[in-house]
Parts: sequence; structure tokens; C-alpha cells
Amino acid sequence: MRDTFRNWAGNQSATPTETAAPASAEEVARAVREAAEAGRRVRMAGSGHSFTGIALTDGLLLRPDALTGIRASGDGWVTAAAGTPLHVLNEELDRMGLALGNMGDISAQTLAGAIQTGTHGTGRDIGGLADQVIGLEMVLADGEIVTVSAGGTRKIRDGIGERDLFDAARVGLGALGVVTAVTFRVEPSFLLHSVRRPMSLTGILDTLGALTSDNEHLDFFWLPHTDTCLTKCNNRSPGPAAPPSAFRHWLDNRFLENTLFGALCGIGGRFPGVIPRINALSAAALSASARTDTSYKVFATVRDVRFLEMEYAIPREHLGEALSRTRDLIERSDWRITFPIEVRVAPSSDAWLSTAYGRRTAYIACHVYRPTPNPAYFEAVEEIMTEFGGRPHWGKIHTRDAAYLATVYPRFAAFQTLRDRLDPERVFANDHLDTVLG
Ligand SMILES: Cc1cc2nc3c(=O)[nH]c(=O)nc-3n(C[C@H](O)[C@H](O)[C@H](O)COP(=O)(O)OP(=O)(O)OC[C@H]3O[C@@H](n4cnc5c(N)ncnc54)[C@H](O)[C@@H]3O)c2cc1C
Repeated sequence: MRDTFRNWAGNQSATPTETAAPASAEEVARAVREAAEAGRRVRMAGSGHSFTGIALTDGLLLRPDALTGIRASGDGWVTAAAGTPLHVLNEELDRMGLALGNMGDISAQTLAGAIQTGTHGTGRDIGGLADQVIGLEMVLADGEIVTVSAGGTRKIRDGIGERDLFDAARVGLGALGVVTAVTFRVEPSFLLHSVRRPMSLTGILDTLGALTSDNEHLDFFWLPHTDTCLTKCNNRSPGPAAPPSAFRHWLDNRFLENTLFGALCGIGGRFPGVIPRINALSAAALSASARTDTSYKVFATVRDVRFLEMEYAIPREHLGEALSRTRDLIERSDWRITFPIEVRVAPSSDAWLSTAYGRRTAYIACHVYRPTPNPAYFEAVEEIMTEFGGRPHWGKIHTRDAAYLATVYPRFAAFQTLRDRLDPERVFANDHLDTVLG
């Protein structure tokens, strides 16, 4: 029987002709060569946390489960197999007294899956995961295994230098090859002092510059239909560690943010009219709290309530205006939205298809409860974001195509040229890539 692949949100699925779980670069290379000879397309999936059809295939689907574990480490770097889940890497690094400098807000993704779509957290100085990558091992469409690194100057193919392939393939959408190992820059493990407090959206908009420059990691969540936000400011701390008690951790991370929130979303889904009241009550219940804990435990949260998400990256200087216009849009509409809008920032990136390529960036993310999709909401916010040259997250819902994306990514044509050279037969294509890459 053929396996069906389903993503985390449950809005994407495909039944590939064949599924395999290679355990090494050589096994991946063999699988890619055989599939190409049989005229089959190939995708490697991560943990299925993308909201789009980017990981889907009707050909050969490679699963990450056997391609895991740390392979090697040295001074300030660690190489791990591409299918390793981030939470496994975090725990292994912690045992070695090491840590990633920054990460997103969950750690369920695989290393390759996360970097291929440009997964990011929030950071004044340190960018998304792909910006912490200093080397990649990958299998190209003809089955050749290549390694590329940040300072590399080798010629990979005629007209393809190592540095170009490295910058293109870090956020490569799985379109340039199957990544089999990732080398991250790591640092000695560190503590983060995390302060959560409610603030008005008006207050945030008035002090945005100071909030983003005074904090290493600023993240805030605006509750639609209210003027209230929950801000999270994470900054490095010399200690001592002051983690939450097991009960407090359960209360905040499991009960309030998942169990209770899920129940409220369920009520809101059945009776949309009460959503503004639910949001007002949630806003009134927000309180300040602080803790100091190991970095990855602060960065990563648990997300059990299923949602759909759209996120846009815009130049940082337009954040205030883009957010005010999004608030006005929601106030003028008759939509009822339970999920907060999340705002994060990142420094400029040099990975060609990073959503932060070449510019200091702000991210605005809209979520809806999975059982009550609201395409009109997403598309109207998209219209605002595209006026600011917005770039949609590669793993989240959007309606942009290659013609638009070529106008907002200065190296888009260079990426396509590289793809034409490395995968002329489009072994690694799928319907989603046909839309976004052409
Ligand atoms: C609850 C939740 C929270 C999230 N939080 C964040 C966040 O904080 N920040 C953020 O930026 N995003 C976030 N995301 C989005 C998520 O990080 C990305 O969609 C990410 O790509 C998912 O990784 P994955 O391992 O599940 O990969 P998948 O979604 O399975 O695959 C993603 C892409 O990577 C490709 N790929 C996977 N493995 C390989 C490989 N070995 N070689 C080549 N290509 C490969 C796939 O073909 C596909 O194109 C979140 C998503 C969810 C559902």
C-alpha cells in the first residue's frame, strides 16, 4: 500500500508512488539516480511543518527519519545529518555545552526542512537558521554528492562557484538538491532572561525603534479586536538560571497557551460573534512574568492547537505603518479572529532566497484556527504587505507567483540560472515550485 504524506496543519497531502528513508548521502544519491532514470520526480520531506504544498510529490518521497544524528564537531561548529529534528540537535548541543545563537518558536522541524524555507526566529543581531549555516552537503539531480561552505572558492560545475551554490542552497526550497548534512556555527551554551508583559499596540507603535534596538530578541503578539499585545523580550543573561517551576511551565506552555487557548478557539469557531469578547478577556488576563533559562528552552514553545499561517517579511522601516494598516483593515472588516498577529525582526541576510536578503527585516504573521480558514483575511493583509515589497515565508500560505517574487528578490534570476544548470530535467520540481519558481 502507498503511504500518504500529510502536513502538520492537515491542509496538504499527497500519495507518492514510492517512499524511502535513506540513512546516508550515498543512499540518497542512489535513490535520486534511480528515480531520475525512471522519470520520477523527487522531494525530501522534513517534519511536515510547512503550510504549503512545497514538500509534496507524486514521485519519490524521501523521509528524514533515518538521516539523523550529529556527525562531527569542532571549534565553534557542528555537523549534523539533515533529517535531525531541531529539538534533538538542541539537546545534543546542550550536552556538549553548546547552543545555536537563535532559532524559531518551535523545534519540531528537521534541520534541512527548516533552513530550506528560511525558518527564522526574532533577532536584532543574529538572523534565521540559514544564517547560522556554514556548510552543506547535498545530492544534486545527477546523483553527485557535493559539499559547499561559507568561505569556499572551488568550482562546482562550469560557471558555478562554491560560494554561489552555498548562498543559493541554504534557503533552496529543496529545488537545488537533497541536503544530507548541515554544518552550523554554534557557541557556548547561554542563558536568556525572558520578560513577558502586556503592552498596548499604540504604546508599541510609539516606541518600536527603542523596543527593537534595546532587545536582542523582541517578539510580540497583538490580539485582534483589542489594543493589547503580549511582548516577549529575551536577552542574554550571566545568570543565575531561574527557570519556571514545573507547574508554572505546564500552566503557561501547555494549559494556557494550548489546552485553554484550543478550547477558546473551538468556542470562537462555533460562535464567531463572541470572539471579540474572548479576546478582550484574554487581554485582561495577561500578566507580566520573567524567567532565566537555557536559551533553547526559552526560544522554543509547544504549539498543539492546529492553525493556518501566512507570514510576510517587509523592510524594517515600514513595520509601524504596515501594522497600523493591518489593524485598520481588521477593524473595518467583519472578520472575527481568535489568533494573535505575531511580529518579529531579523538582521539582513546574504542567503539569496532568505526573506531577509539584503535588508533589515520585520515579520508580520497572521494565523487562523485550522477549522475556520479565512482566505479573504490573508489575501487582504497580503495586499498591504506587497505594497511594501513584502516577501512571503516560503513555508507558509500565500498567493504570490514567480513573476512577483522576481521583483522582490534581487538574486531570483541568479537562483533560476543555477537551478537550470543543476536540474535541467526538474527532478526536484513539484506543482508548488512550478508556481513560485516558474
Ligand atoms: C507550529 C508551527 C510553528 C512554526 N514556527 C515557525 C517559526 O517560528 N519561524 C519560521 O520561520 N517558521 C515557522 N514555521 C514554519 C516551518 O518552520 C517551516 O515551514 C519549515 O520549513 C518546516 O520544516 P520541516 O522540517 O517540517 O520541513 P517540511 O515542511 O517537511 O519541508 C519544507 C521544505 O524543505 C524541503 N526539505 C526537507 N528536507 C530536505 C532535505 N533534506 N533536502 C532538501 N530539501 C528538504 C522540503 O522538500 C520542503 O520544500 C512553523 C510551522 C508550524 C506548523
